[in-house]
Amino acid sequence: PIGLLDGRIIDLNEKIVEMEDRGYQFGDGVYEVTRVYNGKPFALKPHMDRLYRSLRELKIPAVYTFEELASFHERLIAESGYTDAAVYLQITRGVAPRAHAFPENMVPRLTMTIRPSKTNVELQTSGAKGAFVPDVRWLRCDIKSINLLGNLLAKQRGKETGAFEAVQIRDGIVTEGSSSNFFIVKDGVLWTHPVSNLILRGVTRTIIIDQLAPKLGLTVIEKGFDQAFALKAEETFVSGTNTEIMPLVRIDAATVGDGRPGPVTRKLIEAYNEFVIKECGA
Ligand code: PLP
Repeated sequence: PIGLLDGRIIDLNEKIVEMEDRGYQFGDGVYEVTRVYNGKPFALKPHMDRLYRSLRELKIPAVYTFEELASFHERLIAESGYTDAAVYLQITRGVAPRAHAFPENMVPRLTMTIRPSKTNVELQTSGAKGAFVPDVRWLRCDIKSINLLGNLLAKQRGKETGAFEAVQIRDGIVTEGSSSNFFIVKDGVLWTHPVSNLILRGVTRTIIIDQLAPKLGLTVIEKGFDQAFALKAEETFVSGTNTEIMPLVRIDAATVGDGRPGPVTRKLIEAYNEFVIKECGA
């Protein structure tokens, strides 16, 4: 497997992490995950826009232009030869003797990896299981920080009950999945948590709201709701770059709707697949 370090293609077996990299010691960094379909990066611009926002919020200087970041993606895709893949990009604040406050004159460090990735169409067709878990994360979930312990604990807790995804609850309100956004279909209307510091503004979420829902004539309500409301929904699903759109047909012991992916979710999946083909080709 290959990766990229500050613009240079490397073998992943090369030992490149420095012990005093702040990403390694503090989780002081940000990341993005972008899908590659048909050898082409999907929705790269919104992902990189969000990366720049995360960097700004953490006062990490943006060293690379969008064109440079795009060319790094292209190079990894070309060198790997993968047509369907996920590119992971992370930028840490850089290397310095350990101290909590940001040291001066830091040089951020960029690392990227590429791995084959394919959507689980079988699970998408049958529907997956979810599990409600407490949202124990910090109050800046809008920053795509590499500090993911809260998300990891949620996913692990879900996994231990056999769930595909954990659906997090904060102060009685459903926020989002551990690595996805959460939607419900109630009386034919899409509901999801509003953009705030409590969720990550998913690129897939934005595509659903701005592109797919209008195309399908669906109304979207961006408003918080509780667990009981979610369980009364006809349909529920999670969305994310790797997950795409995944129906949740059971959450904990409860069956959602008739226990199969519903018509709205199925139409959204179809529209999403068409959108990917329109951007990346078949
Ligand atoms: N919410 C969280 C906490 C995530 O980690 C992710 C993706 O990794 C998402 C939502 C979905 O974001 P996107 O659609 O941009 O992949």
